[in-house]
Amino acid sequence: MSTSSTRGIARLVRGMPTSDGAGVKLTRVIGQGQLPDLDPFLMLDEFGTDDPGDYIAGFPDHPHRGFETVTYMLDGRMRHRDNHGHEGVLVPGSVQWMTAGRGIVHSEMPEQQEGRMRGFQLWINLPAREKMTAPKYQEFGPQRIPAVTVEGARVKVIAGVVAGLAGPIAQPATDPTYLDIELEPGVRFSHALPAGHAAFLYVYEGAMRVGDDDRPAPVDTHQLAVLIGGESVRLEGVVPARKDTAAQPAARAILVAGRPLREPVAKYGPFVMNTREELMQAFEDYQGGRF
Ligand code: FE
Repeated sequence: MSTSSTRGIARLVRGMPTSDGAGVKLTRVIGQGQLPDLDPFLMLDEFGTDDPGDYIAGFPDHPHRGFETVTYMLDGRMRHRDNHGHEGVLVPGSVQWMTAGRGIVHSEMPEQQEGRMRGFQLWINLPAREKMTAPKYQEFGPQRIPAVTVEGARVKVIAGVVAGLAGPIAQPATDPTYLDIELEPGVRFSHALPAGHAAFLYVYEGAMRVGDDDRPAPVDTHQLAVLIGGESVRLEGVVPARKDTAAQPAARAILVAGRPLREPVAKYGPFVMNTREELMQAFEDYQGGRF
């Protein structure tokens, strides 16, 4: 006889409006007072606006060391350029998984003057043994992200495996899961997660219910649910309670999980190391042009 249980919601968090870069307006969901981090996840920003004034200033040259940044574009185009000669344009539906390692200096600038810009940037920590690794990129256009429909649930697999389809991202250290899930009202989706992995669901359109049939808990638009316990996650699309139901019939969310590192974190802005001494070294190396 087998037993199975589903993950429940440990807490619900709403993001905080903030601005970063040269004045880009965004919502910080992980990495703010209510949820400073969720090991191995250091930060989650949602950006979404139709107003160029909110994004046009972009993110001019800035450094990173000691972790990974994952950019998932839903709408809009962003040009990326770094000090090692790497450059590219992120288009809608694309993913850039950047391992900053021992250091890069880069810019992330909108490649458009108008229209909608929407997506996520997630920061994932690196273990001590990989913090000073050589910088590298895993970049995939929309056609490289597998899309699968499971009993009505539409899922894009950025990292992890759904119905035998594996996402393109490889990161053995944290073994991440990153799914973009779309559920019509009443449609359900279950996904097994490794025991002990930190996990969250962030709903960005509509609403979903999480958990067993007998005690499902709602997660509303722009809410993050920290998911604990259990071997799988069970989700269901919810009929929107809003007046503009015709505009958003389906619920959309990202489901993200990863193995916690359980190491000391010393961070300051774009540097995330294990000790204060390593942080000081990061500043010195950056100021000395050694990124
Ligand atoms: Fe950056």
